[in-house]
Amino acid sequence: MDYDYVVIGAGLSGGILARKLAEEKNKKILIIERRDHIAGNMYDYDDRYGVKVQRYGPHVFHTKEEKAYQFLTQYCEPVPYRTRCEAVIDGISTPSPFNFKTIDQFYDKEQAGRLKELMVSYYGAREEVTVVEMLECREPDIKAYAQFLFEKDYKLYTAKQWGLSPSEIDPSVLKRVPIVLSYRDTYFSDRYEFMPKEGFVGFYKNLIHHPNITVLLGTDALEHLSVDEEKKQVLFDGNLAGIIYTGAVDELFRYQYGVLPYRSLDFKFQSYKTENFQNAAIVAYPQEAGYTRVTEYTKMPEQKDLGWTTVAYEYPAVYDRRADMGKEPYYPVLTDESQRMYGQYRELAGKYKNLILCGRLADFKYYNMDQCVLRALEVYENMEVF
Ligand SMILES: Cc1cc2nc3c(=O)[nH]c(=O)nc-3n(C[C@H](O)[C@H](O)[C@H](O)COP(=O)(O)OP(=O)(O)OC[C@H]3O[C@@H](n4cnc5c(N)ncnc54)[C@H](O)[C@@H]3O)c2cc1C
Repeated sequence: MDYDYVVIGAGLSGGILARKLAEEKNKKILIIERRDHIAGNMYDYDDRYGVKVQRYGPHVFHTKEEKAYQFLTQYCEPVPYRTRCEAVIDGISTPSPFNFKTIDQFYDKEQAGRLKELMVSYYGAREEVTVVEMLECREPDIKAYAQFLFEKDYKLYTAKQWGLSPSEIDPSVLKRVPIVLSYRDTYFSDRYEFMPKEGFVGFYKNLIHHPNITVLLGTDALEHLSVDEEKKQVLFDGNLAGIIYTGAVDELFRYQYGVLPYRSLDFKFQSYKTENFQNAAIVAYPQEAGYTRVTEYTKMPEQKDLGWTTVAYEYPAVYDRRADMGKEPYYPVLTDESQRMYGQYRELAGKYKNLILCGRLADFKYYNMDQCVLRALEVYENMEVF
């Protein structure tokens, strides 16, 4: 075999490691991808109306980290962008995260003025607070506002997201969702936020564009891998190469310690002959049955003026790998039990000297793309080059 490394998975993690090894170590790389396209979950394409949509949900690059920004912008022209989201409550579309405009929309002028002043004096110079803190607040008016948001939005949204009944939602799981103490209406507050001008697939093509890199699509690597237990090596078609695996680690080891739990999503795309379907690119619909949010792709940058708009309804879904439901593992369900199981897989993987695990599935973590970049660069910097 002509390859020094086989990279399993043509997602962001695999692409970064392939590029670094090809360019800086002059290694010959074969990338194997099970799907019929490159770019993993950030894959985008033009639909039949010419709208650029993202098959696996809305993605935007955002980061506080200079290192991630510098790396990503080597392979794309960044189009500065600020994601804005809204949530529809009782038919009113309001900013998400909730901000002072939300108070203006749901209270009369005088009450709204009092509540905003009270929140500013109570929380001091803070930019945001969690709904949990507000639910525990000693000021009855702040607490009542938090209860309103919890009942009409957080509880319903989270129940749908995790497949629970609303009564099972414990407010403590909502700790990370902030309420903004000003009129700031951007979804992320990172220093850098941008879309690649040529789309995510364009970005990815640039990333893997190197004479030492070959990509094979529509191929399941598991059908080509075997193990030499005596030498503690993983072989590809019987050959020895460095194996960089970015797929699911329980699948690699045939679920011998059990199945790692995930939540999944179904995206239903719909096009409408209108220029404006909703107020923002991403809108949450906590009170609607079934779907949690809708992404309107024509509201993202670098879209053509088509007279049509395409939206994707996002339905949280059960994920059961053994049932082969054709779903994707999106969100790892992190419990003590799943972490313990993952630890067993990690330990097992550590026994094979030529096997490297990297990426959101192999690491069993939810990574944003900038975290993927930093993780892949860290793996590269620490690896013994094969
Ligand atoms: C709905 C949603 C929205 C998101 N939005 C954002 C966002 O706005 N900003 C952000 O920074 N991040 C976002 N993310 C996170 C982002 O998708 C991930 O950080 C990133 O895609 C992970 O890249 P990866 O290479 O680790 O994994 P993946 O992209 O999943 O790539 C792994 C690849 O390995 C392939 N594979 C697996 N097993 C095999 C096998 N046996 N043989 C061959 N190929 C195999 C898979 O098919 C897949 O293509 C979002 C995630 C979700 C779920």
